[in-house]
Amino acid sequence: MKNVLFVAIISSFCLINVANAQQTKVYKQGKYQLTFINYDATLDSVEQQRLVKTFYTVYPELAKAYNKNTLKAVTFVIDTTYKGVAETDNGKVTISSRWMHQRPEDIDVITHEVMHIVQDYGESNGPGWLTEGIADYARYKFGVNNVAAKWALPDYKSTQNYDNAYRITARFLLWMEEKVKPGIVKELDSRLRKHTFTDDTWKQLTGKTVDELWKTYSANPAI
Ligand SMILES: [Zn+2]
Repeated sequence: MKNVLFVAIISSFCLINVANAQQTKVYKQGKYQLTFINYDATLDSVEQQRLVKTFYTVYPELAKAYNKNTLKAVTFVIDTTYKGVAETDNGKVTISSRWMHQRPEDIDVITHEVMHIVQDYGESNGPGWLTEGIADYARYKFGVNNVAAKWALPDYKSTQNYDNAYRITARFLLWMEEKVKPGIVKELDSRLRKHTFTDDTWKQLTGKTVDELWKTYSANPAI
């Protein structure tokens, strides 16, 4: 009986600690609700405000540009134990508190991650490198603090390939928008969401395979 009581006291003590460490705030603006769960008591409240402001700047723009049916309610979790930078799953964006302390200007991590919510490809039949390339293309186009974060698309190098994902793919997509077919990113994004994307999609949209496109790009990668 004594043991049971002891366990009960310990458990309630733990619960109180957890409750103290976690702060949840719910924001509402226009159509969109943002639940902000912060496990990091040392996160600057100004940094939190910047993340919230960035969400309300970029998310409606991304929704308008790519997917009007995107989720209306999104959750951000500032996680003190998460080892990566950020990840997104089902409307929940997990952000490393360590990263935000190290790179406070890297606010547009949010822009990349919420683009994944807008993408909503589900069990995608498209390649993962393209999903990540489109998310970084969206960060390039809609990001609010890329310059201060020293985040830019890298120059073309002969060691690169289109399936390197992230910024390398994003630059290839930007080149296609400018030199091959304006609007191609929206079309790729739409087909990926509808699960109608195939390897043949490149040829249908541009007359060239992705390998042929990359060859043309590598011969003259100027943007
Ligand atoms: Zn990503």
